[in-house]
Amino acid sequence: MTCDPEIFSCTQCGDCCKGFGGTYLAEKDIRAIAAHLGISETELLQKYCVLSGNRPVLAQGKDGFCIFFDRNCSIHAVKPQMCRKWPYIESVLVDPRNWRIMADMCPGMQRDAQPSHVICCVRSHLEKISTMPNT
Ligand code: SF4
Ligand code: SF4
Repeated sequence: MTCDPEIFSCTQCGDCCKGFGGTYLAEKDIRAIAAHLGISETELLQKYCVLSGNRPVLAQGKDGFCIFFDRNCSIHAVKPQMCRKWPYIESVLVDPRNWRIMADMCPGMQRDAQPSHVICCVRSHLEKISTMPNT
């Protein structure tokens, strides 16, 4: 299923890569990022992550950005599922008004997209993502 026109185009502003605690790592993310960096999973967790509750999240650098942000994502090919999905996330399917709320924080999202079109696009992207390796 595809859905045109697109309602999101990343401006590369980096805003979503700033701030603490947002980016949880699933087991698959840990495996993929560690392999990409050529380090062990333990080293990844020790050097690049902190715990939030008992779950690992990506740490921040001194500048307040994600530890892997360097003008853009330095691990783009293996970035965590959470980052890969944005802004096509399940909670928009639950309530498409969430799209508009999220668009206040993300300049790449079309703010005035019709709810039915938003749902179509989100479903389509989630389907696509679910067939990718590492998901
Ligand atoms: S906030 Fe939105 S537009 Fe900016 S980098 Fe993140 S996804 Fe792209
Ligand atoms: S992993 Fe990449 S896309 Fe995700 S928060 Fe960090 S720099 Fe941003």
